[in-house]
Amino acid sequence: MRFEGEEQYRNRPLPTRTHWARNLEKWLGMPLNIVEWLGSYAIVRPMNWALRRLDGLSYKLEGTRLRSILQHVIFPATLLFSLIFGFYLAENEVTFDSILTLALVPVIIGLYVAPLERLMPYSRNWLEGGNDTSVDLMMFVSGAFWNGFAKYLMQVLFIVSLVEVLEPYGHGLWPSEIPAVAQVFLFILVKDFFRYWLHRALHEVPFLWRFHAAHHSVKRLYWLNGIRSHPIEVVGQAILFAVPYALLQPPTEIIMVAILMQLSIGIFQHSNIDLKLRFWEYIFSIGDNHRYHHYPNKEVGDSNYGGEFIVWDILFGTFHNPKDERPHDRIGIGTAPNYPMTMAGLLLAPFLPDQKVFGEEADEPSSNGSHGQISLSEPEQTKI
Ligand SMILES: [Zn+2]
Ligand SMILES: [Zn+2]
Repeated sequence: MRFEGEEQYRNRPLPTRTHWARNLEKWLGMPLNIVEWLGSYAIVRPMNWALRRLDGLSYKLEGTRLRSILQHVIFPATLLFSLIFGFYLAENEVTFDSILTLALVPVIIGLYVAPLERLMPYSRNWLEGGNDTSVDLMMFVSGAFWNGFAKYLMQVLFIVSLVEVLEPYGHGLWPSEIPAVAQVFLFILVKDFFRYWLHRALHEVPFLWRFHAAHHSVKRLYWLNGIRSHPIEVVGQAILFAVPYALLQPPTEIIMVAILMQLSIGIFQHSNIDLKLRFWEYIFSIGDNHRYHHYPNKEVGDSNYGGEFIVWDILFGTFHNPKDERPHDRIGIGTAPNYPMTMAGLLLAPFLPDQKVFGEEADEPSSNGSHGQISLSEPEQTKI
């Protein structure tokens, strides 16, 4: 059975989940599956139970002036707080080198963003997502390892030597005389130029899409799932960013504040809070912009590539945010609604053989439950 929009996925080969792949995910991925299961019982279930207490208040808030005020101020207030807090940390020479200090950031932000999502959600269908938070937490913790691995790989591939060759050309290039806040945004903007083209390639080059599909496999958007990226993408991006870092050489404290700003913007990129972002959506890659980016069809989903800023999309003609509509909540990969959702499955997915027609056996339940199933694509019998 064909479905509307299938043609658009012709350049998006995705792995088939044959029986041996499912067994590999189950048995080879056993240690990861156990950690995931523990995370689910120790963190995710108690957290969801606590957050559910807010549901009554959430309905009471609907249509109130307080809700409207919060919708307008939450994003700019967080941005301002991150900026002030970032400079405070930089002055006190705190760095995000250790996983412990870095892990504190999502914990602090999550403490208020997660309740706000529950209190004023964009979509009530996105409030809980099976075991996805457990996987996202594992992705976050393993991110430090993969960034370390990227540094090692850069040495092996002589990229470190290339950076050393480039460095002398960068001296005096960075405008350290402009205000520090402007430096932070300039650094993010330049870095985002590289992210824009990398992200666009991840969507448009079929081989690269295999790895980026892990990020698009999510069935709901909430504050933590910006972290979900395949390690190969994480490592590739870290190597790519080494070049602008080497050429620009911004001061360490600017990089430090920029990292904090990126984390804050990243959380609002995926957050399920129903915010009134207005002109902010023409500056940053947040809110509805990124909801459209997660659309299951390529026609809409291949847009809004910006990491933090959206200006490169506006400039290069890939901006999509129609004024008179809001995005729906049936996100995911239209042609692969049963994409693996376990940590082991996500790591393995890009290396599985291609399938011509995407989808999976109709009787295979999604490991993420039926939540957020995409109705536009009727899963077709997989040819094994
Ligand atoms: Zn993408
Ligand atoms: Zn995303």
